[in-house]
Amino acid sequence: MKRLTGIKASPGVAIGRAFILDRGLQPVEKKTIPEARLGREIKRFLSAIEKAQKEIEAIRARLETDKAKELSTILDTHIMLLQDEALKDDVIKIIREQKVNAAWAVSEHVGRFNEMLASLSGEYLSSRAADLNDIQSRLLENLGISAGVSRIDEAPEGSIVVARDITPSEAAQIDTSRIVGVVTELGSRTSHSAILARTHEIPAVVGTVGVLQSVKQGTRMIVDGLDGMVVISPTSKHIAEYEKKESAYEYYVTELLSAADLPAETRDGFRIAIEANIESPHDIRTALEHGAAGIGLYRTEYLLMEQKHIPSEDEHYLAYKSVAQQIAPRSATIRTIDIGGEKLFDAVKMPSQRNPALGLRAIRLCFARPEMLKDQIKGILRAGVHGNLKIMFPMISGIEELKKGKAVIDECKKELKKARVPFNDEMEVGIMIEIPSAAMTADLLASECDFFSIGTNDLIQYSLAIDRANEEVAYLYDPLHPAVLRAVKMIVDAAHAHKVRVGVCGEMAAEPLYVLMLLGLGVDELSMNPVAIPAAKKIVRSSQLSEALEIARKALYFGTSDEVEQYIYRVMSKRYPQEIASLVF
Ligand code: PEP
Ligand code: MG
Repeated sequence: MKRLTGIKASPGVAIGRAFILDRGLQPVEKKTIPEARLGREIKRFLSAIEKAQKEIEAIRARLETDKAKELSTILDTHIMLLQDEALKDDVIKIIREQKVNAAWAVSEHVGRFNEMLASLSGEYLSSRAADLNDIQSRLLENLGISAGVSRIDEAPEGSIVVARDITPSEAAQIDTSRIVGVVTELGSRTSHSAILARTHEIPAVVGTVGVLQSVKQGTRMIVDGLDGMVVISPTSKHIAEYEKKESAYEYYVTELLSAADLPAETRDGFRIAIEANIESPHDIRTALEHGAAGIGLYRTEYLLMEQKHIPSEDEHYLAYKSVAQQIAPRSATIRTIDIGGEKLFDAVKMPSQRNPALGLRAIRLCFARPEMLKDQIKGILRAGVHGNLKIMFPMISGIEELKKGKAVIDECKKELKKARVPFNDEMEVGIMIEIPSAAMTADLLASECDFFSIGTNDLIQYSLAIDRANEEVAYLYDPLHPAVLRAVKMIVDAAHAHKVRVGVCGEMAAEPLYVLMLLGLGVDELSMNPVAIPAAKKIVRSSQLSEALEIARKALYFGTSDEVEQYIYRVMSKRYPQEIASLVF
């Protein structure tokens, strides 16, 4: 028996046998191609691209669209990469200039790209590298270089997939009737393999150094996604122990889900709203299944990714109409497009910026492209006749921007009226508070809008001067920093003095450890990844308002985030051990 620790990436416990995913790519040989046959070699390369594209489209067509949206988005990225003229031009140039075989030119191109990525850092870039390597394997296979020795679609029933990492197209082929768990050597909580495991709801541990050396094909093993633990060749005593843990977790999930529709109300009758963050109308089903009281944040920039172009007014309208109808009678908050910063989409060409997070992003970018913003606002206003929708502006830095945004809404209303198009004239308008200047002027902003939603992801980034996508400074990214807690308190107090409701929609809201503290700080709504909702509700429903107030009071009192964290962890893990243990976000 041997235990290895890794990063918990998807909760649950699975007992099964190792299925080692060995792609076994042969090293690519460099061959000189005579001048007269270079044209043929280029044709081989182009048909390998075409075949790869068809293969990916076929995998994508097999996905259940609503469940595997993220995977399907990843596969779309692969298709886009394959269609990229720069890839084609570069590989063809290598074939022509160096008079070499297509397979070698492909690996040369990917090698150069990987070298460039290695000199940079960040999870987004490592995902790009994973995407490109996935495409490389597919192209090489299509060029006759022997591929996988064992493939994911050959995994027998009860398999725990063990791999260095899992490529997105392998991810898309996971069959949960045969694969019960995933263990990888590489990866982080936000890597493709972790996302896929959560999508398929199978336990996973990633970043498990040494696992490939420790197992053979068929070795019995256990994945404990609750504690980030992998047990290799367990004894029957360990198996019995983990079987118990597995059924306790299953019972816990069933119990949580069965109570998901109950209101988020403390034992002494204090109620908050727990809502869902979504990225597509497809996510509403999951949001409702997990008991969302509404949609607190629709990140509409993902429409640009789904549609690969800037949506027209009608496309906006149809997406929001679908959201309004599905979520009715509850409400949905539609946030206007937030691109720029680390969120880049091919549909909108962005100038290169020295400090993108501090540059043309979100509402600033929308003001620079008024037609894009107006089409979206008209789409929201029109869809508002089909249900309860609200408009929310991201990255508002002060009162002028809020007034400017409201003026655009008025202009859109005038134009719709003139064109005799029906729309909702009474729609609530709110803003995200995610820039320190907005937090400091929350009282002024509160007198000009209907609601606030605190975007802690950015509020932390901008308050602490920590690039949220930079791994080098990730250790300083600290939701419990006294500056952040004081900012939340200040925003809530200013808002309540103007009878404005305040939500939190950053990742901080999804963290079970912080639920009572946020409630005690006076937050009226929490909006989070839908799967995090049942645990948050359970915590609220088992507590008293006075406990939450006490936690918030103490949290504000401590001078360092370490003290806050130790205190909160001590209180919460004693009261809610299961909720805290199943935390993976
Ligand atoms: C936030 O900043 O907390 C937020 C919810 O917005 P996003 O993560 O989309 O920037
Ligand atoms: Mg934000």
